[in-house]
Amino acid sequence: MPIHIPFDNTYARLPDRFYARVAPTRVAAPRLLRVNSALAEQLGIDPGSLGGSETADVFSGNTVPEGAEPIALAYAGHQFGGFSPQLGDGRAILLGEVVGRDGQRRDVQLKGSGPTPFSRRGDGRAALGPVLREYLVSEAMAALGIPTSRTLAAVATGETVVRETLLPGAVLTRVAASHIRVGTFQYFAARSDLEAVQTLADYVIARHYPDAASAGNPYRVLLDGVIARQADLLARWVLVGFIHGVMNTDNTAISGETIDYGPCAFMDAYDPAAVFSSIDTAGRYAYANQPRIAHWNLARLAEAMLPLLGDGQDAGLASAQEALAAFGPRFEAAYFGGLRRKIGLETEQDGDTALVQDLLARMAENAADFTLTFRRLCAAAAGPEGDAAVRALFADAGAYDGWASGWRARLAAESVPPQVRADAMRRINPAIIPRNHLVEAALAAALQDDFGPFEALLDATAQPFKDWPGFEQYGLPPAQVDPSYRTFCGT
Ligand code: AMP
Ligand code: MG
Repeated sequence: MPIHIPFDNTYARLPDRFYARVAPTRVAAPRLLRVNSALAEQLGIDPGSLGGSETADVFSGNTVPEGAEPIALAYAGHQFGGFSPQLGDGRAILLGEVVGRDGQRRDVQLKGSGPTPFSRRGDGRAALGPVLREYLVSEAMAALGIPTSRTLAAVATGETVVRETLLPGAVLTRVAASHIRVGTFQYFAARSDLEAVQTLADYVIARHYPDAASAGNPYRVLLDGVIARQADLLARWVLVGFIHGVMNTDNTAISGETIDYGPCAFMDAYDPAAVFSSIDTAGRYAYANQPRIAHWNLARLAEAMLPLLGDGQDAGLASAQEALAAFGPRFEAAYFGGLRRKIGLETEQDGDTALVQDLLARMAENAADFTLTFRRLCAAAAGPEGDAAVRALFADAGAYDGWASGWRARLAAESVPPQVRADAMRRINPAIIPRNHLVEAALAAALQDDFGPFEALLDATAQPFKDWPGFEQYGLPPAQVDPSYRTFCGT
């Protein structure tokens, strides 16, 4: 049965200067590594048609499926604070869009599919390791319920790519609400192409923020919407200990999804200053800096949209500033609300913020594992017999005890049956995240052509809130945390 992808493309109808039409470059020997049948089904692709050699051909770019209109998107971006007026899809090609069974329109994009007019000095290719990392982490984020691009397939190319060393090549098929970025707006603003900025804004409203269309100032409502979704997204990230690693404006999606998984990682021990990316030497994108950076990126979006926000510079600026001022309170509400729920509180009382901040301070001082502390608190919420397991995570066990007494007193102010509370906490505090040592072990095995650990980790992280007998190994931090652990972009 041939693979049928029900394409319904709209971005390729936008003016020519929004993209370059470019076909994927053939690869030598495509071999399917994994295809996401559940996601395929959601997209209206028959999972029964997947798995054969045609699958490797389609998801490597060797066969361009019917209905695809391959394009590389134009965008600009601030990278580590410095502006590049032209970036664009240098190693990604959008095949087209699909309206899924849920009525949602999504992009289907190949990453690592060969050079495009935006490749600059790059080869347009991706290495196996970063492709598998993106597969693991994006699917784990989806399982955690966090807005994110997804992974439909990974294919080995049978070719090598030249990085610091020779590495096996691969192509990832990414599915996202769209690939429109803050940097897409910046691309046109930098060219003083106001007509294109407006066309893009109208397109984004129709695709992602339809409620804005009927508002008095649709563009302001659009900006408000992007700011709100980013604030919520950033809260979701920090509440699971996620560090994106490269929060450049070209990696900030207008849809509010997490995109562009590069040197990303989850923390083991709680450390607000945690950085894993090898290229982030100044710690610009450190764990606790992320909300501030998102706000900065949104200010760049507001700048690019300024002429749409009001008549004249002053009116536009005033509107932009008002919109941006909403980010902080929105983030804090989502963050502290999330933290309250993580420690089992259903209501909000004075002192709750201080209570969770005190816990975090003690966790930081005692190098307590972020994920496990909250997971083990679930049992402790049901009764003090759960305390020992939490206490064991703190370098000084007394640091936990000193907090737990106040926490118990606060819990007692809510009349929730302990077991009900513990179960509710287990639905939001994951047991399993793709921990760095497990990801590294899976990638190292894959480089030796053993995909067993990759498959097993993918399966384990697909059910993050369940205690699986036999899967305890996936929930534990490494015996020894490597302080020099770094992740690489692979670019
Ligand atoms: P990223 O770090 O993946 O977000 O990429 C930043 C920019 O560099 C984007 O414009 C990419 O398309 C481009 N880029 C990254 N890697 C490559 C590559 N191997 N070949 C061509 N362009 C690349
Ligand atoms: Mg990028």
